[in-house]
Amino acid sequence: MNQSPENQWPLSPALESQDHLQLEKSYGLFIDGEFVSSTGSKKYASINPATEQRLSRITESTPQDVDVAVRAARKGYDRHWSRMKPSERGKYLFRIARLIQERSRELAVLETLDGGKPIRESRDVDLPLAAAHFFYYAGWADKLDYAFPNRRPRPLGVAAQVIPWNFPLLMAAWKIAPALATGNTVVLKPAETTSLTALRLGEILQQAELPPGVVNIITGHGNVGKALVEHPGVDKVAFTGSTEVGKTIQASLAGTRKRSTLELGGKAANIIFADASIDQAVEGVINGIYFNQGQVCCAGSRLFVEESVAQQVIEKIKDRVQSLIIGNPLDKNTDLGAINSRQQLNTIQEYIDVGLAEGAIRYQPEAPLPDEGFWCRPTLFTQVSQASRIAREEIFGPVLAIQTFRTVAEVIQKANNTPYGLSAGVWTNKGSKIFNLSSQLRAGVVWANSYNQFDPTSPFGGYQESGFGREGGLHGLQAYLDIH
Ligand code: NAD
Repeated sequence: MNQSPENQWPLSPALESQDHLQLEKSYGLFIDGEFVSSTGSKKYASINPATEQRLSRITESTPQDVDVAVRAARKGYDRHWSRMKPSERGKYLFRIARLIQERSRELAVLETLDGGKPIRESRDVDLPLAAAHFFYYAGWADKLDYAFPNRRPRPLGVAAQVIPWNFPLLMAAWKIAPALATGNTVVLKPAETTSLTALRLGEILQQAELPPGVVNIITGHGNVGKALVEHPGVDKVAFTGSTEVGKTIQASLAGTRKRSTLELGGKAANIIFADASIDQAVEGVINGIYFNQGQVCCAGSRLFVEESVAQQVIEKIKDRVQSLIIGNPLDKNTDLGAINSRQQLNTIQEYIDVGLAEGAIRYQPEAPLPDEGFWCRPTLFTQVSQASRIAREEIFGPVLAIQTFRTVAEVIQKANNTPYGLSAGVWTNKGSKIFNLSSQLRAGVVWANSYNQFDPTSPFGGYQESGFGREGGLHGLQAYLDIH
Protein backbone atom coordinates (compact mmCIF):
# COMPACT_ATOMS: atom_id res chain seq x y z
CA MET A 1 0.00 0.00 0.00
CA ASN A 2 1.05 3.53 -0.63
CA GLN A 3 1.61 5.60 2.48
CA SER A 4 -0.20 8.91 1.95
CA PRO A 5 0.99 11.74 4.20
CA GLU A 6 -1.42 12.45 7.03
CA ASN A 7 -2.28 15.97 5.92
CA GLN A 8 -3.45 14.87 2.48
CA TRP A 9 -6.54 13.25 1.14
CA PRO A 10 -5.59 9.59 0.66
CA LEU A 11 -5.02 8.76 -2.99
CA SER A 12 -6.46 5.59 -4.41
CA PRO A 13 -3.73 3.15 -5.41
CA ALA A 14 -2.82 3.39 -9.10
CA LEU A 15 -0.68 0.33 -9.57
CA GLU A 16 1.13 -0.31 -12.81
CA SER A 17 0.39 -3.88 -13.87
CA GLN A 18 3.20 -6.38 -13.94
CA ASP A 19 1.16 -9.21 -15.46
CA HIS A 20 2.79 -8.81 -18.85
CA LEU A 21 6.27 -9.32 -17.42
CA GLN A 22 7.76 -12.79 -17.62
CA LEU A 23 10.97 -13.42 -15.73
CA GLU A 24 13.21 -16.46 -15.99
CA LYS A 25 14.00 -18.24 -12.73
CA SER A 26 17.65 -17.74 -13.49
CA TYR A 27 19.72 -15.91 -16.11
CA GLY A 28 22.92 -16.81 -17.94
CA LEU A 29 25.32 -14.47 -19.74
CA PHE A 30 24.83 -12.79 -23.09
CA ILE A 31 27.92 -13.64 -25.12
CA ASP A 32 28.43 -13.80 -28.88
CA GLY A 33 24.77 -13.11 -29.57
CA GLU A 34 23.44 -15.96 -27.37
CA PHE A 35 22.38 -16.47 -23.78
CA VAL A 36 24.91 -18.99 -22.48
CA SER A 37 25.73 -20.70 -19.20
CA SER A 38 28.72 -19.70 -17.14
CA THR A 39 31.82 -21.89 -16.95
CA GLY A 40 31.18 -21.79 -13.19
CA SER A 41 28.06 -22.54 -11.17
CA LYS A 42 27.75 -19.56 -8.83
CA LYS A 43 24.48 -17.62 -8.86
CA TYR A 44 23.01 -15.02 -6.55
CA ALA A 45 19.54 -13.57 -6.04
CA SER A 46 18.37 -10.30 -7.52
CA ILE A 47 15.71 -9.01 -5.17
CA ASN A 48 12.98 -6.43 -5.30
CA PRO A 49 14.13 -3.84 -2.74
CA ALA A 50 10.53 -2.78 -2.06
CA THR A 51 9.46 -6.27 -0.93
CA GLU A 52 12.73 -8.16 -0.35
CA GLN A 53 11.29 -10.90 -2.60
CA ARG A 54 13.59 -12.70 -5.00
CA LEU A 55 12.96 -11.80 -8.64
CA SER A 56 15.45 -14.10 -10.30
CA ARG A 57 18.92 -15.59 -9.99
CA ILE A 58 21.88 -13.95 -11.66
CA THR A 59 25.16 -15.52 -12.76
CA GLU A 60 28.41 -14.66 -11.03
CA SER A 61 30.79 -14.71 -14.00
CA THR A 62 34.12 -16.47 -13.68
CA PRO A 63 37.43 -15.09 -15.00
CA GLN A 64 37.04 -17.57 -17.90
CA ASP A 65 33.61 -16.09 -18.71
CA VAL A 66 35.18 -12.64 -18.80
CA ASP A 67 37.84 -13.92 -21.17
CA VAL A 68 35.26 -15.60 -23.43
CA ALA A 69 33.22 -12.37 -23.55
CA VAL A 70 36.23 -10.19 -24.42
CA ARG A 71 37.28 -12.64 -27.15
CA ALA A 72 33.73 -12.63 -28.53
CA ALA A 73 33.83 -8.82 -28.63
CA ARG A 74 37.15 -8.92 -30.50
CA LYS A 75 35.72 -11.40 -33.00
CA GLY A 76 32.61 -9.27 -33.38
CA TYR A 77 34.85 -6.28 -34.07
CA ASP A 78 37.13 -8.04 -36.58
CA ARG A 79 34.46 -10.00 -38.46
CA HIS A 80 31.44 -7.73 -38.40
CA TRP A 81 31.42 -4.31 -36.86
CA SER A 82 34.69 -2.84 -38.18
CA ARG A 83 33.89 -4.05 -41.69
CA MET A 84 30.35 -2.73 -41.79
CA LYS A 85 29.46 0.51 -43.56
CA PRO A 86 28.82 3.20 -40.93
CA SER A 87 25.34 3.85 -42.34
CA GLU A 88 24.52 0.16 -41.72
CA ARG A 89 25.77 0.41 -38.14
CA GLY A 90 23.47 3.39 -37.73
CA LYS A 91 20.49 1.33 -38.87
CA TYR A 92 21.10 -1.19 -36.08
CA LEU A 93 21.16 1.61 -33.54
CA PHE A 94 17.89 3.03 -34.87
CA ARG A 95 16.40 -0.46 -34.66
CA ILE A 96 17.50 -0.88 -31.04
CA ALA A 97 16.07 2.55 -30.18
CA ARG A 98 12.71 1.66 -31.69
CA LEU A 99 12.61 -1.71 -29.93
CA ILE A 100 13.32 -0.01 -26.60
CA GLN A 101 10.41 2.32 -27.28
CA GLU A 102 8.15 -0.57 -28.24
CA ARG A 103 9.04 -2.50 -25.09
CA SER A 104 9.29 0.54 -22.83
CA ARG A 105 6.41 -0.42 -20.54
CA GLU A 106 7.87 -3.84 -19.86
CA LEU A 107 11.34 -2.34 -19.33
CA ALA A 108 10.05 0.41 -17.03
CA VAL A 109 8.22 -2.09 -14.83
CA LEU A 110 11.28 -4.32 -14.68
CA GLU A 111 13.53 -1.37 -13.79
CA THR A 112 11.19 -0.40 -10.98
CA LEU A 113 10.91 -3.96 -9.63
CA ASP A 114 14.65 -4.56 -9.69
CA GLY A 115 15.88 -1.13 -8.59
CA GLY A 116 13.11 0.25 -6.37
CA LYS A 117 12.64 3.56 -8.20
CA PRO A 118 9.11 4.95 -8.72
CA ILE A 119 7.45 3.81 -11.93
CA ARG A 120 6.87 7.46 -12.81
CA GLU A 121 10.64 7.92 -13.08
CA SER A 122 11.38 4.68 -14.92
CA ARG A 123 8.54 5.41 -17.33
CA ASP A 124 9.06 9.16 -17.84
CA VAL A 125 12.83 9.54 -17.42
CA ASP A 126 14.87 6.35 -17.73
CA LEU A 127 13.11 4.79 -20.69
CA PRO A 128 12.60 7.84 -22.93
CA LEU A 129 16.21 8.90 -22.32
CA ALA A 130 17.59 5.40 -23.00
CA ALA A 131 15.79 5.32 -26.37
CA ALA A 132 16.83 8.93 -27.08
CA HIS A 133 20.51 8.03 -26.61
CA PHE A 134 20.28 5.29 -29.21
CA PHE A 135 18.38 7.56 -31.61
CA TYR A 136 20.88 10.37 -31.13
CA TYR A 137 24.01 8.28 -31.65
CA ALA A 138 22.41 6.36 -34.52
CA GLY A 139 22.37 9.66 -36.39
CA TRP A 140 26.10 10.19 -35.85
CA ALA A 141 27.23 6.73 -37.03
CA ASP A 142 27.75 7.77 -40.69
CA LYS A 143 28.66 11.40 -39.99
CA LEU A 144 31.85 11.03 -37.99
CA ASP A 145 33.86 12.74 -40.74
CA TYR A 146 31.60 15.76 -40.31
CA ALA A 147 31.84 15.59 -36.53
CA PHE A 148 35.64 15.78 -36.82
CA PRO A 149 36.36 17.51 -40.15
CA ASN A 150 39.80 17.02 -41.74
CA ARG A 151 40.65 14.36 -39.15
CA ARG A 152 40.56 10.60 -39.43
CA PRO A 153 38.37 9.22 -36.62
CA ARG A 154 39.02 5.51 -35.98
CA PRO A 155 37.34 3.18 -33.48
CA LEU A 156 39.42 1.97 -30.55
CA GLY A 157 38.33 -1.70 -30.64
CA VAL A 158 36.83 -3.48 -27.62
CA ALA A 159 35.26 -1.34 -24.88
CA ALA A 160 34.86 -2.66 -21.31
CA GLN A 161 31.94 -0.88 -19.72
CA VAL A 162 31.04 -1.10 -16.02
CA ILE A 163 27.94 0.64 -14.69
CA PRO A 164 26.17 1.32 -11.35
CA TRP A 165 22.69 0.53 -10.07
CA ASN A 166 20.96 3.88 -10.00
CA PHE A 167 20.01 4.11 -13.71
CA PRO A 168 20.68 0.57 -14.93
CA LEU A 169 19.22 0.65 -18.44
CA LEU A 170 19.93 4.32 -19.01
CA MET A 171 23.60 3.90 -18.05
CA ALA A 172 23.82 0.91 -20.40
CA ALA A 173 22.41 3.10 -23.21
CA TRP A 174 24.81 5.97 -22.35
CA LYS A 175 27.68 3.56 -22.72
CA ILE A 176 26.65 1.23 -25.55
CA ALA A 177 25.14 3.74 -28.02
CA PRO A 178 28.24 5.96 -28.56
CA ALA A 179 30.56 2.92 -28.52
CA LEU A 180 28.63 1.20 -31.32
CA ALA A 181 28.08 4.39 -33.32
CA THR A 182 31.84 4.92 -33.44
CA GLY A 183 32.50 1.33 -34.56
CA ASN A 184 33.61 -0.27 -31.28
CA THR A 185 32.34 -3.49 -29.76
CA VAL A 186 31.38 -3.88 -26.12
CA VAL A 187 31.50 -6.04 -23.02
CA LEU A 188 29.11 -4.54 -20.48
CA LYS A 189 28.90 -5.40 -16.79
CA PRO A 190 25.80 -4.07 -15.04
CA ALA A 191 25.71 -3.62 -11.26
CA GLU A 192 25.13 -6.78 -9.23
CA THR A 193 21.83 -5.58 -7.75
CA THR A 194 20.30 -4.39 -11.03
CA SER A 195 21.20 -6.68 -13.94
CA LEU A 196 17.73 -7.56 -15.18
CA THR A 197 17.10 -4.72 -17.64
CA ALA A 198 20.60 -5.11 -19.11
CA LEU A 199 19.87 -8.80 -19.67
CA ARG A 200 16.55 -7.89 -21.26
CA LEU A 201 18.49 -5.52 -23.50
CA GLY A 202 20.37 -8.64 -24.63
CA GLU A 203 17.01 -9.99 -25.88
CA ILE A 204 16.39 -6.72 -27.69
CA LEU A 205 19.80 -6.94 -29.37
CA GLN A 206 18.87 -10.43 -30.57
CA GLN A 207 15.54 -9.08 -31.82
CA ALA A 208 17.44 -6.35 -33.68
CA GLU A 209 19.66 -9.07 -35.19
CA LEU A 210 22.77 -7.27 -34.07
CA PRO A 211 25.73 -9.34 -35.33
CA PRO A 212 27.16 -11.76 -32.73
CA GLY A 213 29.80 -10.44 -30.36
CA VAL A 214 29.12 -6.76 -30.99
CA VAL A 215 27.60 -6.40 -27.50
CA ASN A 216 28.25 -8.91 -24.72
CA ILE A 217 26.72 -8.68 -21.25
CA ILE A 218 28.30 -10.38 -18.26
CA THR A 219 27.01 -10.22 -14.70
CA GLY A 220 28.49 -10.43 -11.23
CA HIS A 221 30.05 -8.41 -8.43
CA GLY A 222 33.01 -6.04 -8.33
CA ASN A 223 35.59 -8.77 -8.92
CA VAL A 224 33.98 -9.41 -12.34
CA GLY A 225 34.23 -5.70 -13.18
CA LYS A 226 37.87 -5.76 -12.05
CA ALA A 227 38.68 -8.80 -14.22
CA LEU A 228 36.99 -7.09 -17.16
CA VAL A 229 38.75 -3.73 -16.96
CA GLU A 230 42.10 -5.43 -16.37
CA HIS A 231 41.70 -7.88 -19.26
CA PRO A 232 44.55 -7.36 -21.75
CA GLY A 233 42.16 -7.71 -24.71
CA VAL A 234 40.35 -4.50 -23.81
CA ASP A 235 41.21 -1.22 -25.59
CA LYS A 236 38.97 1.20 -23.71
CA VAL A 237 37.48 1.30 -20.22
CA ALA A 238 34.32 3.28 -19.53
CA PHE A 239 33.35 3.22 -15.87
CA THR A 240 30.51 4.85 -13.98
CA GLY A 241 30.43 4.32 -10.24
CA SER A 242 31.99 5.42 -6.99
CA THR A 243 35.11 7.55 -6.74
CA GLU A 244 36.71 4.89 -4.55
CA VAL A 245 36.41 2.17 -7.22
CA GLY A 246 37.25 4.68 -9.97
CA LYS A 247 40.59 5.37 -8.28
CA THR A 248 41.50 1.66 -8.11
CA ILE A 249 40.59 1.29 -11.79
CA GLN A 250 42.70 4.31 -12.71
CA ALA A 251 45.65 2.84 -10.80
CA SER A 252 45.26 -0.52 -12.53
CA LEU A 253 45.22 1.15 -15.97
CA ALA A 254 48.41 3.12 -15.37
CA GLY A 255 51.13 2.00 -17.77
CA THR A 256 48.70 0.25 -20.14
CA ARG A 257 47.70 1.57 -23.56
CA LYS A 258 44.00 1.47 -22.62
CA ARG A 259 41.96 4.63 -22.96
CA SER A 260 39.53 5.45 -20.14
CA THR A 261 36.68 7.64 -19.04
CA LEU A 262 35.54 7.70 -15.42
CA GLU A 263 32.16 9.08 -14.31
CA LEU A 264 32.30 9.13 -10.51
CA GLY A 265 30.63 10.55 -7.43
CA GLY A 266 29.34 14.02 -6.68
CA LYS A 267 28.26 16.45 -3.96
CA ALA A 268 26.39 19.08 -5.91
CA ALA A 269 25.62 22.57 -4.65
CA ASN A 270 22.15 23.94 -5.29
CA ILE A 271 22.20 27.70 -4.72
CA ILE A 272 19.12 29.86 -4.06
CA PHE A 273 19.44 33.65 -4.20
CA ALA A 274 16.89 35.92 -2.53
CA ASP A 275 15.79 37.23 -5.94
CA ALA A 276 14.82 33.74 -7.19
CA SER A 277 11.28 32.61 -7.78
CA ILE A 278 11.14 30.84 -4.42
CA ASP A 279 8.37 28.32 -5.11
CA GLN A 280 10.03 27.26 -8.35
CA ALA A 281 13.38 26.95 -6.57
CA VAL A 282 11.87 24.85 -3.76
CA GLU A 283 10.40 22.48 -6.33
CA GLY A 284 13.83 22.29 -7.98
CA VAL A 285 15.48 21.47 -4.66
CA ILE A 286 12.95 18.68 -4.03
CA ASN A 287 13.56 17.30 -7.51
CA GLY A 288 17.32 17.71 -7.08
CA ILE A 289 17.69 15.69 -3.90
CA TYR A 290 14.66 13.42 -3.61
CA PHE A 291 14.46 12.34 -7.27
CA ASN A 292 15.40 8.62 -7.39
CA GLN A 293 15.69 8.68 -3.56
CA GLY A 294 18.78 10.87 -3.87
CA GLN A 295 20.64 7.96 -5.45
CA VAL A 296 21.85 10.18 -8.25
CA CYS A 297 25.47 11.17 -8.85
CA CYS A 298 24.40 14.76 -9.54
CA ALA A 299 21.92 14.95 -6.62
CA GLY A 300 21.72 18.49 -5.24
CA SER A 301 22.73 17.28 -1.80
CA ARG A 302 24.12 20.61 -0.55
CA LEU A 303 21.68 23.50 -0.50
CA PHE A 304 23.00 27.06 -0.09
CA VAL A 305 20.28 29.66 0.61
CA GLU A 306 20.81 33.40 0.81
CA GLU A 307 20.37 34.29 4.46
CA SER A 308 17.53 36.81 4.03
CA VAL A 309 15.21 34.12 2.59
CA ALA A 310 16.61 31.07 4.40
CA GLN A 311 13.81 30.73 6.95
CA GLN A 312 11.12 31.06 4.30
CA VAL A 313 12.82 28.53 1.99
CA ILE A 314 13.40 25.99 4.77
CA GLU A 315 9.76 26.18 5.87
CA LYS A 316 8.57 25.67 2.29
CA ILE A 317 10.90 22.70 1.81
CA LYS A 318 9.61 21.13 5.03
CA ASP A 319 6.01 21.60 3.87
CA ARG A 320 6.79 20.06 0.52
CA VAL A 321 8.69 17.14 2.04
CA GLN A 322 5.67 16.48 4.26
CA SER A 323 3.53 15.98 1.16
CA LEU A 324 5.84 13.50 -0.61
CA ILE A 325 4.39 10.03 -1.00
CA ILE A 326 6.70 7.17 -0.03
CA GLY A 327 5.79 3.60 -0.84
CA ASN A 328 5.13 1.00 -3.50
CA PRO A 329 7.32 2.06 -6.45
CA LEU A 330 4.84 0.48 -8.88
CA ASP A 331 2.16 2.96 -7.76
CA LYS A 332 1.96 5.91 -10.15
CA ASN A 333 1.37 8.29 -7.21
CA THR A 334 4.64 7.40 -5.51
CA ASP A 335 7.28 10.13 -5.19
CA LEU A 336 9.93 8.19 -3.28
CA GLY A 337 10.49 4.51 -3.87
CA ALA A 338 12.75 2.03 -2.11
CA ILE A 339 16.49 2.34 -1.48
CA ASN A 340 18.31 -0.04 -3.80
CA SER A 341 19.80 -2.38 -1.20
CA ARG A 342 20.04 -2.97 2.53
CA GLN A 343 23.72 -2.08 2.34
CA GLN A 344 22.96 1.31 0.80
CA LEU A 345 20.19 1.93 3.34
CA ASN A 346 22.65 1.21 6.16
CA THR A 347 25.14 3.67 4.65
CA ILE A 348 22.47 6.39 4.46
CA GLN A 349 21.37 5.67 8.02
CA GLU A 350 24.96 5.95 9.25
CA TYR A 351 25.27 9.36 7.63
CA ILE A 352 22.03 10.52 9.23
CA ASP A 353 23.47 9.46 12.61
CA VAL A 354 26.70 11.30 11.79
CA GLY A 355 24.72 14.47 11.00
CA LEU A 356 22.97 14.27 14.37
CA ALA A 357 26.22 13.55 16.21
CA GLU A 358 27.82 16.57 14.52
CA GLY A 359 25.08 18.79 15.95
CA ALA A 360 23.02 19.46 12.82
CA ILE A 361 19.24 19.68 13.20
CA ARG A 362 17.32 16.94 11.39
CA TYR A 363 13.86 17.15 9.89
CA GLN A 364 11.96 14.15 8.55
CA PRO A 365 8.25 13.86 7.75
CA GLU A 366 6.23 11.45 9.86
CA ALA A 367 4.89 9.38 6.95
CA PRO A 368 4.65 5.71 7.89
CA LEU A 369 6.94 3.35 5.99
CA PRO A 370 6.02 -0.07 4.57
CA ASP A 371 6.94 -3.04 6.79
CA GLU A 372 8.99 -4.89 4.18
CA GLY A 373 11.75 -3.48 1.99
CA PHE A 374 14.41 -0.79 2.32
CA TRP A 375 13.01 2.68 3.01
CA CYS A 376 14.37 6.03 4.01
CA ARG A 377 12.27 9.11 4.74
CA PRO A 378 13.27 12.26 2.87
CA THR A 379 15.60 13.99 5.31
CA LEU A 380 16.94 17.50 5.64
CA PHE A 381 19.52 18.96 7.97
CA THR A 382 19.88 22.60 9.01
CA GLN A 383 22.67 24.15 11.14
CA VAL A 384 25.21 22.29 8.99
CA SER A 385 28.81 23.48 8.98
CA GLN A 386 31.26 23.39 6.05
CA ALA A 387 33.40 20.91 7.97
CA SER A 388 30.53 18.53 8.59
CA ARG A 389 30.82 15.10 6.96
CA ILE A 390 27.24 15.29 5.69
CA ALA A 391 28.26 18.44 3.78
CA ARG A 392 31.50 16.97 2.43
CA GLU A 393 30.91 13.30 1.64
CA GLU A 394 28.64 11.72 -0.94
CA ILE A 395 25.73 10.02 0.86
CA PHE A 396 23.85 8.78 -2.20
CA GLY A 397 20.49 8.97 -0.47
CA PRO A 398 17.61 11.41 0.20
CA VAL A 399 19.55 13.58 2.66
CA LEU A 400 19.84 17.34 2.15
CA ALA A 401 22.41 19.48 4.02
CA ILE A 402 21.34 23.14 4.18
CA GLN A 403 23.72 26.07 4.69
CA THR A 404 23.29 29.82 4.28
CA PHE A 405 25.35 32.61 2.67
CA ARG A 406 25.40 36.41 2.43
CA THR A 407 27.48 37.25 -0.65
CA VAL A 408 28.14 35.87 -4.10
CA ALA A 409 31.85 35.46 -3.36
CA GLU A 410 31.04 33.53 -0.19
CA VAL A 411 28.71 31.07 -1.88
CA ILE A 412 31.14 30.43 -4.75
CA GLN A 413 33.88 29.69 -2.26
CA LYS A 414 31.62 27.39 -0.21
CA ALA A 415 30.17 25.58 -3.24
CA ASN A 416 33.65 24.92 -4.65
CA ASN A 417 34.93 23.69 -1.30
CA THR A 418 34.55 20.02 -2.27
CA PRO A 419 36.74 17.34 -3.80
CA TYR A 420 33.95 16.64 -6.31
CA GLY A 421 32.75 18.68 -9.28
CA LEU A 422 29.95 17.03 -11.19
CA SER A 423 26.98 19.38 -11.14
CA ALA A 424 25.44 22.46 -9.56
CA GLY A 425 22.23 24.49 -9.68
CA VAL A 426 21.66 28.26 -9.50
CA TRP A 427 18.30 29.89 -8.76
CA THR A 428 18.03 33.63 -9.43
CA ASN A 429 16.15 36.03 -11.68
CA LYS A 430 19.40 37.80 -12.69
CA GLY A 431 21.01 36.55 -15.91
CA SER A 432 24.29 38.20 -14.90
CA LYS A 433 24.46 36.09 -11.72
CA ILE A 434 23.83 32.95 -13.73
CA PHE A 435 26.71 33.75 -16.10
CA ASN A 436 28.98 34.74 -13.24
CA LEU A 437 28.33 31.57 -11.25
CA SER A 438 28.30 29.14 -14.14
CA SER A 439 31.80 30.32 -15.09
CA GLN A 440 33.13 30.20 -11.52
CA LEU A 441 31.58 27.00 -10.17
CA ARG A 442 33.87 24.05 -10.75
CA ALA A 443 31.22 21.60 -11.94
CA GLY A 444 30.74 19.72 -15.21
CA VAL A 445 27.15 20.90 -15.53
CA VAL A 446 25.48 23.96 -14.01
CA TRP A 447 21.71 24.11 -14.26
CA ALA A 448 20.09 27.53 -14.09
CA ASN A 449 16.55 27.81 -12.67
CA SER A 450 16.15 24.07 -13.27
CA TYR A 451 17.73 20.86 -12.07
CA ASN A 452 18.38 17.30 -13.30
CA GLN A 453 17.78 18.14 -16.95
CA PHE A 454 19.32 15.60 -19.31
CA ASP A 455 19.56 15.40 -23.05
CA PRO A 456 21.66 13.09 -25.23
CA THR A 457 23.00 16.08 -27.20
CA SER A 458 24.53 17.60 -24.09
CA PRO A 459 27.87 16.38 -22.68
CA PHE A 460 27.93 15.25 -19.05
CA GLY A 461 30.92 14.58 -16.82
CA GLY A 462 32.96 15.82 -13.90
CA TYR A 463 35.94 17.70 -12.56
CA GLN A 464 38.34 16.60 -9.83
CA GLU A 465 37.21 13.46 -8.00
CA SER A 466 34.01 13.30 -10.05
CA GLY A 467 36.11 11.82 -12.84
CA PHE A 468 37.12 12.77 -16.35
CA GLY A 469 35.82 12.40 -19.87
CA ARG A 470 32.38 13.34 -21.14
CA GLU A 471 29.37 11.26 -22.11
CA GLY A 472 26.67 12.61 -24.40
CA GLY A 473 26.85 14.94 -27.38
CA LEU A 474 29.87 15.23 -29.67
CA HIS A 475 32.20 14.83 -26.70
CA GLY A 476 30.70 11.40 -26.10
CA LEU A 477 31.86 10.30 -29.56
CA GLN A 478 35.39 11.51 -28.97
CA ALA A 479 35.84 9.20 -25.98
CA TYR A 480 35.51 6.16 -28.27
CA LEU A 481 37.70 7.33 -31.14
CA ASP A 482 41.30 7.67 -32.10
CA ILE A 483 41.41 10.99 -33.92
CA HIS A 484 44.43 11.89 -36.07
P1 NAD B 1 30.41 1.12 -7.25
O1 NAD B 1 31.65 1.84 -7.62
O2 NAD B 1 30.39 0.35 -5.99
O3 NAD B 1 30.02 0.08 -8.40
C1 NAD B 1 29.85 0.47 -9.74
C2 NAD B 1 30.11 -0.72 -10.62
O4 NAD B 1 31.48 -1.09 -10.51
C3 NAD B 1 29.31 -1.97 -10.26
O5 NAD B 1 28.95 -2.63 -11.46
C4 NAD B 1 30.32 -2.80 -9.48
O6 NAD B 1 30.08 -4.20 -9.54
C5 NAD B 1 31.61 -2.47 -10.20
N1 NAD B 1 32.84 -2.62 -9.42
C6 NAD B 1 32.98 -2.66 -8.07
N2 NAD B 1 34.30 -2.81 -7.75
C7 NAD B 1 34.98 -2.84 -8.93
C8 NAD B 1 36.37 -2.94 -9.27
N3 NAD B 1 37.31 -3.02 -8.33
N4 NAD B 1 36.71 -2.91 -10.57
C9 NAD B 1 35.78 -2.79 -11.54
N5 NAD B 1 34.45 -2.71 -11.28
C10 NAD B 1 34.06 -2.72 -9.99
O7 NAD B 1 29.27 2.21 -7.31
P2 NAD B 1 27.72 2.01 -7.00
O8 NAD B 1 27.56 1.97 -5.52
O9 NAD B 1 27.14 0.90 -7.81
O10 NAD B 1 27.12 3.35 -7.60
C11 NAD B 1 27.09 4.51 -6.89
C12 NAD B 1 28.20 5.45 -7.30
O11 NAD B 1 28.15 5.70 -8.71
C13 NAD B 1 28.06 6.80 -6.66
O12 NAD B 1 29.31 7.23 -6.17
C14 NAD B 1 27.59 7.70 -7.81
O13 NAD B 1 27.91 9.06 -7.63
C15 NAD B 1 28.28 7.09 -8.96
N6 NAD B 1 27.61 7.45 -10.23
C16 NAD B 1 28.20 8.38 -11.04
C17 NAD B 1 27.59 8.78 -12.23
C18 NAD B 1 28.23 9.80 -13.12
O14 NAD B 1 27.78 9.95 -14.27
N7 NAD B 1 29.26 10.51 -12.68
C19 NAD B 1 26.36 8.22 -12.59
C20 NAD B 1 25.77 7.28 -11.74
C21 NAD B 1 26.42 6.91 -10.55
